Amino acid sequence: MTHPLPPRPDAAAGARDAEVPDVPDGVLGWRTWRIGRRAQRRAELVGPLAGTLWPARRPLVASCGSRDHSPPGDHCRCGLYAVADPRVLEWGPSEYEVLGAVALWGHVVEGTRGWRASHGYPRFLVTGPVIPAEQRAALSRRYGVPVLPSAVPPRDLARLVGAQPGVADDLLRRPGEELDDALAARMPAWVHAWRTGRTTTVPADSRRRFRTLTAMWHRH
Ligand SMILES: [Zn+2]
Repeated sequence: MTHPLPPRPDAAAGARDAEVPDVPDGVLGWRTWRIGRRAQRRAELVGPLAGTLWPARRPLVASCGSRDHSPPGDHCRCGLYAVADPRVLEWGPSEYEVLGAVALWGHVVEGTRGWRASHGYPRFLVTGPVIPAEQRAALSRRYGVPVLPSAVPPRDLARLVGAQPGVADDLLRRPGEELDDALAARMPAWVHAWRTGRTTTVPADSRRRFRTLTAMWHRH
């Protein structure tokens, strides 16, 4: 599937440099990023699998070590990824991993759990209770996207949101200025579900399949 590439920014229009890239209609999905804990990297988004630094205010363009195709290769595992159901996301041990929505476009390959794409940019981030407000503000300023607080750790929030597919899809498509209220309105119920342990578990076989998928992506 191919989605049109955005027009190239006019280099002469300096003001545009400070704006978020004009993200075209493409695919919206869920993914994770790591954010820095050291002072000089606190406003950086890093891909947790490949360790790629996501640039601010311009799309990330996928790269691949292979010379015979450009990402995402049909028979390769390269490309920027996102999943449709946030419950299948894999999480590391760090409290500095965040849940987020990403827009993918350009050349997009659909897989069993989600997509791999040539171009991507974050749409919004949700950080856990350990991330201070000033770090959220710094991330939001740098990337120009909403960075929202969650009273529930992001990996648990991903399970709670994923258990309500209609809510998850609604959040992906909400205008940025409505996200804060939309999330805050549902947070008490999510906190309650989290405290009482009513999180939905994903069937073991689907988790295993996704782990295999991400392990292969990791090679690039
Ligand atoms: Zn490749």
